[in-house]
This record gives sequence, C-alpha cells and structure tokens, in this order.
Amino acid sequence: MLEKLQNGIKRIPKSILIVGAITVTLWIIGLIIAIIFETYLFLVYILLISTVPMISVLIYEIRKTNIRTREERKQQIQAEYQEQLIQMKHGGKQRSLEEIRGNFSTNNLARIDSLKIERKARKKYSCTISRIQILDGQEILQCPQCKNYFSEFNLLVWLEKKRNCPVCKAKLLQ
Ligand SMILES: [Zn+2]
Repeated sequence: MLEKLQNGIKRIPKSILIVGAITVTLWIIGLIIAIIFETYLFLVYILLISTVPMISVLIYEIRKTNIRTREERKQQIQAEYQEQLIQMKHGGKQRSLEEIRGNFSTNNLARIDSLKIERKARKKYSCTISRIQILDGQEILQCPQCKNYFSEFNLLVWLEKKRNCPVCKAKLLQ
C-alpha cells in the first residue's frame, strides 16, 4: 500500500511537486495573514496568483508528455520495421514472435528463456543486431558470455539458422 503510494508520487514530475508545495505554502501563509489581519480579500489574491504557476507547469508537463509519447511511438515503429527487415533477410515472409518460437524445441525454448533478463528502471537497452533501443514490452535477452543485449525477436530469427551468439559465437542452443 505504502509502496504503491511512493511509486505513484515518484511518477509525478518534480516540477509539479515543487510548484504544488510552493502553492500550498502560499495558501497557508495567506490563510494565516488573512486570519491575523482579518483581510480575506488578501487570501483571494493569494489563491488567484498562486494558481497561475501551477496551471502553467501543468500545461507544460502535459505538452512534454505528448511529445514524449509521439517520440516513443516513432521509436516503436522504427524498431518493428528493423525487426521485419532482419526477419526478411533471414528467411522471407513476416511472422509473429509466437510463430517463430514454435520452430524451436521445448529444450531450446527453455535455454532461450533463461537468457531473458529483468529490465532495470531508467536503463536503456539496445539490440546488438538492429542497433535499435529495446522498448518496454519487448523481452531483453543477454548473452551469458559477451553480455550483449538482444531483442527476443531478433535473436530468435538469428537462432533459427545458427546456434551461436551473433557476437562472441558462444553456444546458445543445443
Ligand atoms: Zn555472446
């Protein structure tokens, strides 16, 4: 529960947290001054003025998120395009990851799955085959010998033909 709350707060941009804290502080100061001097008009001023930076920061963050989402979409299309190119280079028509996995024995699939690694937050991983960033939702496979990263799709297309790591030639399949 507490961890969920902490993660939720972590996802809020820092600028919003800072401006939010300043806004709330201004409100509290305004409220205290208003109570001491009994000038409630002052409190109204403070409320109005302090919302301006808050709204500006919110608009700025929303625009930034939109640009980032568009950028991620572009990267995803680029990554999918590269995967299709590599696949066609290695064996013709377009297939899904599931279809390609179906061509491996259970034993080899277990070996492939044992190469999968957990994605570390904020770390960027690039596929050594396509040189394109491995995106969220794509599995990252790591060669136990040379430690290079591969997207699952690209390495599977490679391993359909060869049994070794494309970089260091370590034996990955039986
Ligand atoms: Zn290797």
